[in-house]
Parts: sequence; structure tokens; C-alpha cells
Amino acid sequence: IRRLDESVVNRIAAGEVIQRPVSAVKELIENSLDAGSTSVNVVVKDGGLKLIQVSDDGHGIRYEDLPILCERHTTSKLSTYEDLQTIKSMGFRGEALASMTYVGHVTVTTITKGQLHGYRVSYRDGVMEQEPRPCAAVKGTQIMIENLFYNMSARRKTLQNSNDDYSKIVDLISRFAVHHINVSFSCRKHGTNKADVHTVSRLDAIRSVYGVSVARDLMEITASDDDPSRSVFKMEGFMSNANYVAKKTTMVLFINDRLVECTALKRTVEITYAATLPKASKPFIYMSIILPPEHVDVNVHPTKREVSLLNQENLVESIQNEVESKLRNSNMTRTFKSTKVPVNKMVRIDSQDPVGRLHAYLASVRSAVRQRRNPKETADLTSIHELLSDIDHSGLMDIVKHCTYIGMADDIFALLQHNTRLYLVNVVNLSKELMYQQVLRRFAHFNAIQLSDPAPISEIILIALKEEDKISGMNTELLKHKAELLQEYFCIHIDQQGNLSKLPVILDQYTPDMDHVPEFMLSLGNDVDWENEKNCFQAIAAALGNFYSMRAPLLPNPSGDGLQFYKRTLDDELIAEAETVWAQREWTIQHVLFPSMRLFLKPPNVMATNGTFVQVASLEKLYRIFERC
Ligand code: ADP
Ligand code: MG
Repeated sequence: IRRLDESVVNRIAAGEVIQRPVSAVKELIENSLDAGSTSVNVVVKDGGLKLIQVSDDGHGIRYEDLPILCERHTTSKLSTYEDLQTIKSMGFRGEALASMTYVGHVTVTTITKGQLHGYRVSYRDGVMEQEPRPCAAVKGTQIMIENLFYNMSARRKTLQNSNDDYSKIVDLISRFAVHHINVSFSCRKHGTNKADVHTVSRLDAIRSVYGVSVARDLMEITASDDDPSRSVFKMEGFMSNANYVAKKTTMVLFINDRLVECTALKRTVEITYAATLPKASKPFIYMSIILPPEHVDVNVHPTKREVSLLNQENLVESIQNEVESKLRNSNMTRTFKSTKVPVNKMVRIDSQDPVGRLHAYLASVRSAVRQRRNPKETADLTSIHELLSDIDHSGLMDIVKHCTYIGMADDIFALLQHNTRLYLVNVVNLSKELMYQQVLRRFAHFNAIQLSDPAPISEIILIALKEEDKISGMNTELLKHKAELLQEYFCIHIDQQGNLSKLPVILDQYTPDMDHVPEFMLSLGNDVDWENEKNCFQAIAAALGNFYSMRAPLLPNPSGDGLQFYKRTLDDELIAEAETVWAQREWTIQHVLFPSMRLFLKPPNVMATNGTFVQVASLEKLYRIFERC
């Protein structure tokens, strides 16, 4: 084993930060923006391999700083680790310029305010090649990189063969241009006068870089949230409407003024377009999201491209809702005006149709239903907010958020580790509470689970009662009567013939055990006080919570005590079925219940005393016991 030479280490690191010419351009533009520039001009030769030159009109670099400007880890933007929490500049690692000097020849010309002349100096491998020389200069800084990757022949070769680096640079600058409406950008090839990017305002910017046809089909979008238990952010931007056609998604995303990618958000937006528009085109999206700096972890990747956010799921969900409702409205004005098909006819599903179409129709129908009332009115229902804030939680929150799932201890209890403690937790109670809370959160905004065969409620309730009774008929009438409310707020669809045809999606990827439908229908009929709004919503949410809770399947567990039962029956098919059902449940508990619980559940305090959470051991004590053995 040999210790690597420092210059080798630096060059390897540099190759990671500066992967292609476009990464160098990105760093240079970010520096210009950090320097408060209002004009940034870029010149490129040979796709950036021969020359990248970025000139800005920012505050410039002081003479005294020039000697260490290009050393690794020199920055003017950060001094303590804690500063990272509140940092507003795009740079902070002090690595970009240094990296460039290890893989190219860097020359800096700069002048600071009040100076009569500027300075020019070249760097190699982190250090100045000579003393800075005085020179004439205009306000700001010009950084020139020549012969990028001159010392990395393999990298240079692959890049020389690929012709698209200039277009990558143009694309990058276009994105910056769209976002920074107060900064003018230009980009041109060395030796030409024609700029390939040249911008002024945002929509102008979009029009001039992405074309008139794109700009024409855009709608403004905004969303925000201010509830620390969900998410805190402000978003504004543009999104393509139903008329826009493209084969590829264009997503220009800025978070706290940084150009970044957020795969979860992009995928969600794409899916929403595909599910909502009948002729699904890929979208054009520009979004600027502002969040408290301490909610963004920008330090997950050396190039700072992909970010992770606090409460990402919630943020993505609120943005998704906004995108969906914008799309549905724009889509409705189109399809509903042009075709005079009554809404109820549109629900009929052609079995030949791809699933996407079905979604689209359902979505349109859903919005048609919701349109009837003022949508604001449903969103602000105070009773729902009260029910959510009535949940008294605190003590168990930390366990829920930071526990590790170990496995199922028996049919009902899962074993969790939290710090040095082990807990048995009742998954039925937990899931019931989680479902209840999710019903309140998704209130009036559910996706639907479509029942393949709509189920006649009267028969369902009879099953529940296990005997002929007038109650069944009465309940059916009652529920038919309440169908509109159930449909609009809870996505429980009951048609005029008294068939149950849809149920809400409460947790994505989770469908309740239909064996419990009868009990659920009965409880809707019997337990709900329809007169008082808050009580009514509370009871329906609780009934849904009960129905969707992850109870033990009816078939006994073949890998537990249930084995006795199967020994007697000797029915292989039944055993196989039971095994599948139980395996599925365990999978769902681990991969759906616990992850969602960490994100969403506010565990009520009673759970500490009602047997939902039971501490079984602390590891310290266990170790002491083992030591004695
Ligand atoms: P970072 O941006 O992470 O601080 P860089 O290596 O990109 O690290 O830049 C190092 C320092 O050089 C910056 O902190 C800044 O003070 C200065 N600098 C770089 N580019 C410019 C510029 N265009 N205008 C003014 N100062 C700059
Ligand atoms: Mg920088």
C-alpha cells in the first residue's frame, strides 16, 4: 500500500466535480450569481474543451484573495459547519475553481469596486503560476478555462467523440435564464456573433429558449404549505396544459434558487399527467420552490444535483394535488365543451382501453363532482382541521419516527428497535390509527379503488347481520341517501341501485381486506351521527380506519399455531393460499405500514398505556444478562 501523491488525489477529486464541460460552466455561472451579477455572458469553443469563458458584472475578487482563490476548500461563503444550515449561496465547498485548475488552465481577470485597474492571473494545480498582473478591466470577473481535461486523455477522447456538449451548455444556460428573471444571460460559440441564448423576462425567456409553441401552452401554477407537521414551502412556476405535445419531459427545477433535480417530484408529475390527460403528452414544467434552507440537504452529491428535502413526500403530494387540479380544469374545458357526452356515460369503461384512459375518465368525473361545490369550501372545513389537531401526541413521536422494524413477533405484534430499546407494537391498532389520520388528511381528495364487481349493499349488510332483518333495507336506503356526501368527501361510491362500486385509496399501494366490507357497511349505517358535521366525519373516518386496519387474515397463520388447523384439513391449496395471504400481510406491514407511519402518524398518547406500545427490553440489560450466561 502506498500513500497517493496529493496532486493525484486532487486530480481524482477534480474529475468528480468537473465531469464534463457543462459541469464547469454550471459552477462558473453559480459563482457569478453568488457574486450578485446581473449579466452573465458565456463563450464556448469546441464544446468547452478548448475554451470556456464566463464573464460577469458581479462584485469581483479582492487582490488579497487571489493567491488562495484556487486552492481546495477555500471559500468566502462558509466558515463553520453550522453555516450550512442557513446558507443561501450556491457554492460553499470551495472546490469548483480548485478542481478546474487540476484538469485545465484557468485564467482569472477581475476588478473590485472602487479600483482603478483589475488583475489577471493564471492558475495550475491549485496555485498561481505567477504574481497577478495589473490590467484594464470592466466591472466584475471573467474566468477562462482552456484545454479542459488536457491531462485526462481518456476523458478527453470520449468527450471529443460526443458532439452534444455545446447543446448541453446551451440547455443549462437556458434553464438558468428561465429562473433568474433579473439576470440577463447570453451564450455563444467562440468566433460567432450570434448568441444561442439571449434572454430578458421569464416567459420571454421560455419563449425564446424553448419556442413560441411551448410558451403558448403554459399555465401558471402556484402552491404553498405552512404547516410544519406536513411541509413548509412556496412554489411558483409554469406547467404545460392539455394542448401541449411533447415526447420528452422538460423539467426545470430550482429549489432555493439552485438548479437541482428531484426524481420523486419529476416522476410524480409525469404520472399525474399520464393519469389525468386522455392523450397523455409528456409535460413541460418550470418550478421554483423556496423552503427554509435547513430543510434542504444539498450535500448529498458532489455536484449538488439531486437534493433531498425534509418532508419530501408531503411537499410532493401538495404539488401533485395542485398540478392535478390545474390539469383537470384545463382538460375539462377542452373535452367537456367539445364532446356533449353526459358525464355519467363517460364512466363506462371500454375493456380494450388502456388503464391510462380509465384513470383519465375517472379523474374527469371526480372533478365534475367536486366542481359542483365551491372547492375552497371543502378544503377549509374546520371540523376536519379540528379533528386532526385533536390528536394528542408527543411522547411516542420519536419512537415512531426513528424506529427500525425487526419483524413480526406474532400475528398481531411487531418488534421494533428504537435506540437501545425494544418494543412490541400492535400493528392492528397502529394501522387503524394511521388510516384514520390519513382519511382526515386526504379528505375530499382521494384516488379511487374500483371494485371489479359493484357489490349490492343490502346483501353485504345481510351478511354482516347474518340474518334477515329490516335493518339491512333501512341501512341501504340511508346510505343511498348519503351517497353524495360519501362520494364527495370519502370517495365511497354508492349508486342508485344501492351498489358499492368504489373505495378510497388511503395509503398508496394498499387495498383493504374485502372480507371486512360487510362490517364496514353496517358500521356506516349504524354508528354515524349524520346530523353533526364533526361527529359525522369523525365516525366515518374511524369506520374506514377500522376497515383498512391490518388485522390478522381470517385464515389461521400456517407458520404459527395455525398449523394444527391445517393438519386436520390437509388441504394443500388452502395452505398455499394462507401462506400467500400471510406473506403479503407481512410485506405490507414492513414496506407500506411502517414507512408511512414514520412519515405521517402522530401517535396518540394513549398508545403508550393501552398496549399498543410495550417496551420489552433495553439492550443494555440484555447484554448484561448475556454476559452472565
Ligand atoms: P465556492 O463557490 O464553493 O465558494 P469556488 O471554488 O467556486 O468555491 O469559488 C471560490 C471563491 O472564489 C468563492 O467563494 C468566491 O469568493 C470567489 N469567486 C469565484 N468566482 C467568483 C466570481 N465570478 N465573482 C466573485 N467571486 C468569485
Ligand atoms: Mg462555486
